[in-house]
Amino acid sequence: MRIVDIREITVPLEGAIANAVVNFAEHTVSMVAVVTDVVRDGKPVIGYAFDSIGRFAQGGILRDRIIPRLKAAAPADLLSEAGDRFDPAKVLRVAVRNEKPGGHGDRAAAVGAVELAFWDLNAKLADEPAHVAITRHFGRPTGPGNGRGSVAVYAAGGYYHPPGSGRTLRDELLGYADLGFDAYKMKIGGAPLADDLARIEEALSVAGTGARLSVDANGRFDLDTALAYAAAIKGYDLRWFEEAGDPLDFDLNRRVAEAYEKPLATGENLFSLPDVRNLLLFGGMRPARDVFQMDAGLSYGLVEYGRMVALLESHGFDRAFLHPHGGHLINLHIAVGLQLGGCEAYPGVFQPFGGYPKGCALGQGQVRPTDAPGFGLEEKPELRAVIARLAG
Ligand code: MG
Repeated sequence: MRIVDIREITVPLEGAIANAVVNFAEHTVSMVAVVTDVVRDGKPVIGYAFDSIGRFAQGGILRDRIIPRLKAAAPADLLSEAGDRFDPAKVLRVAVRNEKPGGHGDRAAAVGAVELAFWDLNAKLADEPAHVAITRHFGRPTGPGNGRGSVAVYAAGGYYHPPGSGRTLRDELLGYADLGFDAYKMKIGGAPLADDLARIEEALSVAGTGARLSVDANGRFDLDTALAYAAAIKGYDLRWFEEAGDPLDFDLNRRVAEAYEKPLATGENLFSLPDVRNLLLFGGMRPARDVFQMDAGLSYGLVEYGRMVALLESHGFDRAFLHPHGGHLINLHIAVGLQLGGCEAYPGVFQPFGGYPKGCALGQGQVRPTDAPGFGLEEKPELRAVIARLAG
């Protein structure tokens, strides 16, 4: 078995929306195809994946560095001992060959996109859903009481709707409730504190309780602002307060944790194991309370993500407090396969990558992958044209 080709295309995200910091309308995603010489039903078996949503495509790094290394590798440098599947740890090693440590950034997303395509590929070679392959690979227990085959999902959004736009925050969240969601996340930090408090109360009129509402500052606040928000929102008993300050400002995170006894969440903008280790050592994160949101597609893929999970557990944290950022099928399979706390969804936006095909919906705030082989990206109608282009 060998790789015939690895292709990347850059796909613009649909959805002209803004959070506290960035406008997603300019964002792009790298979708990758790993084509093998294995032929089933007259077609080559192809693994597909993408980095994640909310940042930018990595076509340059992929084409200039990562893809040539993988295509030049001898088959034994990429395959498992038995040679019947690819070894993702070997793939990662080849992909980062001759890269210096540190400076994890766009490179981590480039590698993440292609590494995840090998997970899709392996699952397709075994003719099983990716979450099944992931559970087995990481030696997770199976059977009654171990993983439910589904995970909790919440609707993320809660955008700023300008007055006179004809739509309110409450309208938006009621729309998610109609889709079967019962928990929500909203943006804060794009308006003065008093306005945001009024928005939180508006959102609570739909969520019913703070336990079903999280707020996300998208890393916007300096320490004083973060502490002012923490003090002001404490009484709402929210599910979590996400990315109060810069994702790498671990001291700020620690000081907010010292002042705010309710759950904090962060991690979606940490792209490596050493970054996560520093968060654990210096960020003041509290076991059985705070939430981690690292995203395999932004941080070198699932091998590195698995190492992050192991590191967290070695520091006394529980994987039930991991909710990967992203809101898409790949992270759904990862959350189910690794038996994490849940995942997010961005209903109606971030197409063609965001959300889950109809077959995944369960209602009551739960979502479940279908039995499609791999990540099941082929089942998502919005992705069909992209996949057809990549399949050539
Ligand atoms: Mg966030």
